[in-house]
Amino acid sequence: MSSLYSHLRLTADGRRELLAGLVARSSDTIDGRRPLLVFDLDGTLLDNRPRVVAILHELAQSWRESHPEAAAKVARARDEDIGYGLVDNLMRLGIEVPELHAAGQRFWFERFFIDEYLRHDTALAGAVEFARRCHEAGASIMYLTGRDLPKMAVGTLASLRDLGFPIGVVGTSLVTKPAFDIPDERFKREVARELDRVGPVLAVFDNEPGNCNALLEAHPACVSVLLDTQHAPNPPALHSGVVVIDTFEA
Ligand SMILES: [Mg+2]
Repeated sequence: MSSLYSHLRLTADGRRELLAGLVARSSDTIDGRRPLLVFDLDGTLLDNRPRVVAILHELAQSWRESHPEAAAKVARARDEDIGYGLVDNLMRLGIEVPELHAAGQRFWFERFFIDEYLRHDTALAGAVEFARRCHEAGASIMYLTGRDLPKMAVGTLASLRDLGFPIGVVGTSLVTKPAFDIPDERFKREVARELDRVGPVLAVFDNEPGNCNALLEAHPACVSVLLDTQHAPNPPALHSGVVVIDTFEA
């Protein structure tokens, strides 16, 4: 898929060199401390489009009697139809009626941000292997996500475990927002100031340009990596020091 950042993406060889270099540096110590790699989840390590598709298929079921034509269209949703924004997704599926947009948005909102639906997420290609290799080499791994503690932490732990990411063992942590309505970038800027408690930051990975910028500003010596998957509309200009990839494939 083309994007604002396609032209900045590393070549396959460049990406392999970057990832292998980070695995190699995961076994180094910095001032006697093990390095830390910080990973965002949605759009970075995880593809959440299957979660959206599962919700849309459930929506199709609920519309079967009341809106059969719309239900048939929504039932055809596949991962490749899913981008950022539920109404845009509905439009791509051929749903034009504003009342159905509003109803679909409500239906999605009540389901997307809760534990029960996180089991639908899948790992980006190579993501599990990369995180495992860094952890096995000696680095600490932190999952730093805009998901919230009250309604998403338990499902997130289960999802990371079931997909095979290192979690629940020494050298791993999951950091979530204490409340849903805290803006993600503000939250990550605040957490960035405390990352030294865990270890010197070797690399950060995020699919939101603003978060990549914020983490790089807080830790100028780290490698800040943008996952060019999908991101919120109207992103800030990407800091020139941020590296761009779209997969963890080695
Ligand atoms: Mg994300």
